[in-house]
Amino acid sequence: MAKSCPKCREKLSETPERVVFPYEGLGLSVLKNGFECASCKRKEYEDKVDKYSQDFIGLQGPHPPEINWQMYIDEHSDKEKEELTDILLAIGILSIESKDSWEIVDGSSRTIGLNLGLPSSGSYFYFKRKKDALQYACLIYDDHYKWEARHIGEVVSRDEALFEKSET
Ligand SMILES: [Zn+2]
Repeated sequence: MAKSCPKCREKLSETPERVVFPYEGLGLSVLKNGFECASCKRKEYEDKVDKYSQDFIGLQGPHPPEINWQMYIDEHSDKEKEELTDILLAIGILSIESKDSWEIVDGSSRTIGLNLGLPSSGSYFYFKRKKDALQYACLIYDDHYKWEARHIGEVVSRDEALFEKSET
């Protein structure tokens, strides 16, 4: 028997899948797991956008969105910060993929960019747009120490490298 979504009781596809949809002029892309349905996932993110759109995403007139990075930095509640981060990931401002992204590094080329350090998310996040990387870095690091923003072009993963080695 097919399982039903715990939230809406509709029939549930247990396969994780990417849910892509437009909302308020934004293009959202989120991953749904096997324990929720696509429409509940979509509703969850529409509610998040509603909650923060005015002050945080600056939805007015033609897009792309203007992110209020000061608000992001000033947010000290873990839950709210996660919600803001979720939105930024969903609308493609942040990414967990380094390829074609921007990162902030210190004087020794160590990444010092956006890592929430939250218990629930150990991930390091990259910026998809240069202007967001620069705005964030200027606000948070200012002139305290040497930093620079770098664009990451090509990325070869360990697995790809090992696979290629075994093929030759
Ligand atoms: Zn549902």
